Amino acid sequence: MKIAVVGTGYVGLVTGACFADFGHKVTCLDRDVEKVTALAGGKLPIYEPGLEALVARTAKDGRLKLGVIDGGESTTIDDAHVALANADVIVIAVGTPQEKGTNAPSMAAVHAVARLIGRVLRTAPPGHTVVMTKSTVPVGTADAIRAIVCEYATREVKEGGLLDARTSSIVSCPEFLKEGSAVEDFMRPARVVVGVEPDDERAKEILTRLFAPLVRTTGQILFMGTRSAELTKYAANGILATRISFMNEVANLAERTGASVDDVRLGIGSDPRIGSAFLYAGAGYGGSCFPKDLRALLYSAEEAGCLFSVVAAADKANERQKRVLGDKILALVPPRGKICVWGLAFKPGTDDVREAPALVLIEQLLRAGYDVTAYDPVAMDRVRETHTGFGVSFAPDMYAAAEGADAIALVTEWHEFRRPDFERLRAVMGTPAIFDGRNVIDAAEARAAGFDYYGIGR
Ligand code: NAD
Repeated sequence: MKIAVVGTGYVGLVTGACFADFGHKVTCLDRDVEKVTALAGGKLPIYEPGLEALVARTAKDGRLKLGVIDGGESTTIDDAHVALANADVIVIAVGTPQEKGTNAPSMAAVHAVARLIGRVLRTAPPGHTVVMTKSTVPVGTADAIRAIVCEYATREVKEGGLLDARTSSIVSCPEFLKEGSAVEDFMRPARVVVGVEPDDERAKEILTRLFAPLVRTTGQILFMGTRSAELTKYAANGILATRISFMNEVANLAERTGASVDDVRLGIGSDPRIGSAFLYAGAGYGGSCFPKDLRALLYSAEEAGCLFSVVAAADKANERQKRVLGDKILALVPPRGKICVWGLAFKPGTDDVREAPALVLIEQLLRAGYDVTAYDPVAMDRVRETHTGFGVSFAPDMYAAAEGADAIALVTEWHEFRRPDFERLRAVMGTPAIFDGRNVIDAAEARAAGFDYYGIGR
């Protein structure tokens, strides 16, 4: 199939590269000229395990091409409009960030792409296009996209042109991949959710063919209405975030009452009705999805006149949790000391620092007058870019970051932080203390090595 993907970020680039790997002819389009130019030169703008090799291979084989939408002068760029006009499937994977000052997600990019698709389709050759939304969008978006595409695709007809031979299906296929294992998740999803009009057999047939190689093991393609598909994505993120916030509150209670959250987690996670995933307590969740998606869910509920108090509480609990590690440091480490922060990315395996708990902690520490030196194996450049004048220093490795420090705050559970060389740390640190915001360090080992150890709910 010919596939055009609009939006070449975490979701769009992974989608494009994976479909290209399955033999489709894919063009990834973005409005960010710098990003596309870097990609065309073989430089990935994001860190995601396995993605660089996949992009390089599929681009070399000619199955993955790139283009800029709305201009762009790069010589390596294909004609974006031709790619859209000839696509069997157009994937919308642009961002839907939270609007400033409200819980609503911004639909500006999605609507702009819908207008563009409409304009392109009105002069496209005869055929059929499936317009598939992978961006996380509120209930009713597929209907809104359909209305926009129709309006723009038929305007030419009203104005005297007669090119109405191309038909389209508007479908919603929310994406469930996780940053840090995005390629793997995309290639082997637990299920594919496809929102489609109930009588649109043509779209169902095309999407069954497209997704079949991804679900060979589970066979799970779940067809449903577009509104249910859209709500499924928010409900999934809502329940996962709620589990984390719930366990964080269990951890805080465990700490005050002498229980251990590790034991409680095993005790409840072994119950098949509960399951063991997403029960790890820590310094709060971050990222580009959970926080904004919970707020979008709240916004949708409010618009629909419903209460969604569980999700509101999970979101609030998380905002509090992001400060728990900092509060402990403020209480236990003398003011104006030096703190070493291990990890900036919102989770391991990614360089994404959107809503990252480490940034909240660093701001809290700087404001309280501490010196902060941070180290992250991949996300330091991202913070340098997004937080100019932040006041934090960066170190070339985890031990250099700890030099002269009065405490280490571990915020992202990269593998390399899990079993540190305590001897080496003790030799360089001012005071040997570890605040483990992810409960990944062996507390007994740390204490035996002479460290003061503080976890979350341990
Ligand atoms: P991102 O910010 O990494 O990428 C979005 C891309 O869209 C950017 O490259 C941007 O330049 C481009 N873009 C924005 N407006 C455009 C326009 N009008 N025309 C062309 N390109 C445009 O975002 P992401 O993390 O890939 O997320 C994309 C969507 O997928 C969001 O709705 C997000 O909630 C959802 N999602 C993200 C993840 C994740 O883990 N990142 C997982 C599932 C779903």
